[in-house]
Amino acid sequence: MKTWEILEGACLSCKKCPLWETRTNVVVGTGNKNSKIMFVGEGPGEQEDLQGQPFVGPAGKLLDKMLGAIDMKREDVYITNIVKCRPPYNRDPKEEEQSACMNYLRYQLKLIEPKIIVCLGRIAAKAIISPDFKITSQHGIWYEKKGYYFIATYHPSALLRDPSKKYHAWEDLKKIRDKYLEMNNL
Ligand code: SF4
Repeated sequence: MKTWEILEGACLSCKKCPLWETRTNVVVGTGNKNSKIMFVGEGPGEQEDLQGQPFVGPAGKLLDKMLGAIDMKREDVYITNIVKCRPPYNRDPKEEEQSACMNYLRYQLKLIEPKIIVCLGRIAAKAIISPDFKITSQHGIWYEKKGYYFIATYHPSALLRDPSKKYHAWEDLKKIRDKYLEMNNL
């Protein structure tokens, strides 16, 4: 039987990839464990590592605003990352680190059973939707696999670096809101 206690216990003691050596905290995820929608980023940053929570730094504040723009609160959704430990200096998580950690995300999917999975940024989209995913041309497109609806939009950090992408993210968010309402009315 799968339980949150088993998952959290496994994550907190995990040494399956070298990221355990430099982490302060394992960041498993946060939010509504019965939500129909799950947001997945690439990995914890500095603040997330220090606080043990995903998306709590500047990118997290922007994510909260993005959710607010589509009438959602953090408590309505579940938020996690591909890797549960911070890559040093905020580098991209390596493929072998992502592979080592992926079973935890699969386990979370089994526990939560969301209908919609939103990939925040290129790394999450490549890991979840397709290895050759191109965020600039494929964001905002729905993909359906094994009963899940997947979509990718820009990572809030990318929007902070390049605000010109915000318009595209807003268009994606509206699609996410519509699908979420549709799923909740089923
Ligand atoms: S990133 Fe994932 S696989 Fe690597 S040590 Fe942390 S929990 Fe384990």
